[in-house]
Amino acid sequence: MRDASSEEPATANFIRAIVNDDLRRGKWNGRIATRFPPEPNGYLHIGHAKSICLNFGIARDCGGVCHLRLDDTNPEKESVEYVNAIMDTVRWLGFSWHKDGVEHLYYASDYYETLYRFAEILIERGCAYVDSQSPEAMRVNRGTLTEPGIASPYRTRAPEENLALLRRMRAGEFKEGEHVLRAKIDMASANLNLRDPVLYRIRYAHHYRTGDAWRIYPMYDYSHCISDALERVTHSLCTLEFEDHRPLYDWILNALADAGVFKRPLPQQIEFARLNLSYTVMSKRKLAQLVNAQHVDGWDDPRLPTLAGLRRRGFTLSSIRLFCERIGVSKADSWIDMSVLEQALRDDLEPRAPRLMAVLDPIKLVIDNYPDGVIEWCHASVHPHDPERGSRTFPFSRELWIEREDFCEHPPKGYFRFFPGHRVRLRYGFVVECTGVEKNAQGKIVAVHGQYFPDSKSGTKGANAYKVKGNIHWVSSTHAVAAEVRLYDRLFTIARPETAEGDFPAALNPASKRVVRAWLEPGVQSLAPEERVQFERQGYFVRDRIDSTPQRLVFNRIVRLKEGWSKTKS
Ligand code: ATP
Ligand code: MG
Repeated sequence: MRDASSEEPATANFIRAIVNDDLRRGKWNGRIATRFPPEPNGYLHIGHAKSICLNFGIARDCGGVCHLRLDDTNPEKESVEYVNAIMDTVRWLGFSWHKDGVEHLYYASDYYETLYRFAEILIERGCAYVDSQSPEAMRVNRGTLTEPGIASPYRTRAPEENLALLRRMRAGEFKEGEHVLRAKIDMASANLNLRDPVLYRIRYAHHYRTGDAWRIYPMYDYSHCISDALERVTHSLCTLEFEDHRPLYDWILNALADAGVFKRPLPQQIEFARLNLSYTVMSKRKLAQLVNAQHVDGWDDPRLPTLAGLRRRGFTLSSIRLFCERIGVSKADSWIDMSVLEQALRDDLEPRAPRLMAVLDPIKLVIDNYPDGVIEWCHASVHPHDPERGSRTFPFSRELWIEREDFCEHPPKGYFRFFPGHRVRLRYGFVVECTGVEKNAQGKIVAVHGQYFPDSKSGTKGANAYKVKGNIHWVSSTHAVAAEVRLYDRLFTIARPETAEGDFPAALNPASKRVVRAWLEPGVQSLAPEERVQFERQGYFVRDRIDSTPQRLVFNRIVRLKEGWSKTKS
């Protein structure tokens, strides 16, 4: 495997252009600080990888720092399990939130006291007020895109009264929904986010870190910009849906800068297009639904687009970084086909994965004219395009496993693999002619019989005299290594499951996981635990990092050799 710290060339994009320009102008005195701010309400997915590669990549290439901030201001859905999974994933992607011996790991919940203090400052300066309208009245009075909002009757409350109320909200003297703290901006703004947005709401919820200390919780728009400013982030990169929130981001920070709380320049929010990937769902809420309803086997199910799932499936970190590089960063929303991710994996593995033969759906082939108990060694290259990696050796014997699909008793026109009266080459071995089939009482084929040609062995003189079209893989049945192989396919049968009528789980692919008992070339024993391998003609595979043991091998199919998939084929 490539080194985890292998550096890709910095990819040009409009955000890097802004950052480089700021560096040139000395806007931040040469300092660059970005942040990756996931909410710990689920596992990270491939969309987050785009944001991670962007934020940590810029920091790395500009001599800056990227903070990992757990944006944990939503008490109900967050947990330590998710925090740990997030840290694991960022580390796995090869990035670090340490710089010059300092750890830049932050929790928005650590800012609760500061955020509260700033709220009092905003009240004192007449920039915020406690609104006591019912939630319903607030909603109605907010107006619409075509009509301005109507000011709350509480909008003109005196700062002292607002302060007293906010303190009582904090002390837990009111019920949820009785009061909120709002910014006093502009009820007629064309941007609905500026119509006196809510900054704090009362919430009697247990927080996984602060416990029951707080009865009021800050809203995302309030806590996020302040967290950025407190950490002295220079460029706050987020996805496009926050574009309309940017004026509010700037308003809050400017109000606090005017109050002398923050120095200018203030962090700059820049939006980019989120990653949308076909044949899967990405929002943590939907992923949680799949996990909780046990449609998949946990957050690291190899079929999920979570980074834990992709890692378990066998995706390499270099393939994920390559993918992020290829999709780039732009301001235009687009859909990326799953095949782009799969191709990045193939392009990463093709030049380095060793080759082996594996029979996934075995049927026995008996070579009737081959002596029992005798083996002959066959040779093949470890990697066909890299002779320096040498060759591998495996035994040929009287009884072999071949792929059921490579045999056909009554072949259709154009079928040139194994069928009665026909010859194929057993890769790296001999040419064999099919002489018949053996069936059980139910008529099921239990074995295929053949005759081999002793002078046809691959690599020996005269082998080329045999002209055959079919070239099939095999393993010696007494020497092959048994393994459970999990054949994964796309999780959904349609490209945009989120747009499926009704429930998106209805579009789940029933054939997304198939488990087979396979026979592998003996050399599989010498693979390193996480070494990816190409099973010839089949695809790329890796040992399952959780379930595989030396006594019981379990392999996952990461991806087929070629693009293309169907519900019926494995
Ligand atoms: P989700 O709906 O999946 O929970 P989110 O945006 O709420 O997504 P966060 O954990 O809040 O998830 O996001 C952390 C960071 O990752 C944010 O800066 C967010 O913009 C970014 N991010 C999330 N999803 C994507 C995506 N699909 N593509 C690019 N960046 C993303
Ligand atoms: Mg979220």
